[in-house]
Amino acid sequence: MGLNSHLFAIYINKTNNMDKFKNFLLYIWQLPQNLLGLIMLLFMKPYVSKENYKGITYVISKKMSGGISLGNYVILSNKYKSKNVSHKTWDHEYGHTRDSRLFGPLYLIVIGLPSIIWAWMYGTIIKPTQNGYYKFYTEKRADRLGGVER
Ligand SMILES: [Zn+2]
Repeated sequence: MGLNSHLFAIYINKTNNMDKFKNFLLYIWQLPQNLLGLIMLLFMKPYVSKENYKGITYVISKKMSGGISLGNYVILSNKYKSKNVSHKTWDHEYGHTRDSRLFGPLYLIVIGLPSIIWAWMYGTIIKPTQNGYYKFYTEKRADRLGGVER
């Protein structure tokens, strides 16, 4: 290994350590939703699958209806298990994780709770329309941040 490649190896190592540190701080910043996510995961066993997508852990479970995004964890219903078929759903949930990083400890209040109430109202109190679900601010934001076009 020459000097250049040695220096390059040190550089890569430093970058990885910086990334680890940044990810650690981000995890703490989003601690309420991360802890809630970990607790919810306990109830989702046995998982259909578990995979990393864009640095986020996506768990597919038959016990989940729809989808939820809690910090570094996304839980999706079995009907969305294929990332290729359900890429809009996967990217939409990724959009929520970007809001989680942005709002940190306020995420559950500003995004989480309103979106859960909305999901419950939609189809019960509010009459469904074409893509109407994604017109609510929490969902519109997730689509935009996840790069989803509807
Ligand atoms: Zn959503």
